[in-house]
Amino acid sequence: MRRPTKTAPPRGFKKLACKYCGSICERVDSNADAITCFRCVNKMMRGEVLELPETETKTKKKSKK
Ligand SMILES: [Zn+2]
Repeated sequence: MRRPTKTAPPRGFKKLACKYCGSICERVDSNADAITCFRCVNKMMRGEVLELPETETKTKKKSKK
């Protein structure tokens, strides 16, 4: 007897956080590395410029001298 689990994402999809606002999208292509949620896509379509949140690991701005 097996119960179908509703929590399992459909095949080929995974959860991923939007790279701009960090909100979780549930049906992201499993090949995707980073996603932009529909809200941010909407903003971009309206001509807004979205900035990536600063992350210490990814930004090379900090240079120690
Ligand atoms: Zn977003």
